[in-house]
Amino acid sequence: MRVVHTIAGMKEARHRLRGSVGFVPTMGYLHEGHLELARRSRDENRYTVVSIFVNPTQFGPKEDFAKYPRDTERDLAMLKKEQVNIVFMPSAEEMYPPRYSTWVDLEKVTERLEGTIRPGHFRGVATVVAKLFNIVEPTRAYFGQKDAQQLVVIKKMVADLNMNLEVIAVPTVREPDGLAMSSRNVYLNPQEREAALILSKSLSLARKLWSKGERNADIIRREMTSLIETEPLGTIDYVSVADAETLEELAKIDRPAVVSLAVKIGKTRLIDNIVMAR
Ligand code: AMP
Repeated sequence: MRVVHTIAGMKEARHRLRGSVGFVPTMGYLHEGHLELARRSRDENRYTVVSIFVNPTQFGPKEDFAKYPRDTERDLAMLKKEQVNIVFMPSAEEMYPPRYSTWVDLEKVTERLEGTIRPGHFRGVATVVAKLFNIVEPTRAYFGQKDAQQLVVIKKMVADLNMNLEVIAVPTVREPDGLAMSSRNVYLNPQEREAALILSKSLSLARKLWSKGERNADIIRREMTSLIETEPLGTIDYVSVADAETLEELAKIDRPAVVSLAVKIGKTRLIDNIVMAR
């Protein structure tokens, strides 16, 4: 496994590869969810490149950029075990040199859900992912369903800008009790960790209602909201039942839908979602 820190070094390493290249962008502090993406890539491509970059431009001024968890040594050991070929770990200065000034801005799909609560977040995500795609030139790139809106945004960017790669969605990996794995779960104290189960429980409730034939999105939103409100440590940012492609809120669930939510548990903001297709 090679670890590359510079863009020039990464481009050079890429151009020596013959055959398909799978790419997994991450912010590090890896868990089974990230490793699942790397395994999919390894199974479907000749080579796998993983990037570790805590991208400053996707964090708001009051967000957790400075204290985002980092453990490079542990991350590299985990990736080596998964037989990853190249790890790209640029510095912030390498990615955003002085007077950096080009941004990728998507309309509409970024204007709801996470986009309303984290203004500028998807501009940072789309920009860094576009840069990483240009540097790594992957055949396929792997993203987790965990970040459902991010997946929609990246797919849209790739289609709109005619980028030459395939975007592959990987199902959310969960802890045995249902909590979606996330680097941010480390912020939770034991009491909050227990309270955090309210996210997956409310999604299970949505799934149950839908399976029984409920197609009124408002009823599903309301039932989920009532359940989450029984958790004293939880504060809801949003509960959404939206069109899986446009992310527009639905009144009636008559097409593939993504049920998503963001809830603060204490000071930690968690997101989760499920897809309900016909
Ligand atoms: P992050 O390091 O949080 O930026 O995540 C890097 C990639 O891993 C993104 O495509 C995420 O959607 C994906 N990911 C994060 N958590 C999970 C999970 N629990 N299951 C599947 N994919 C995940």
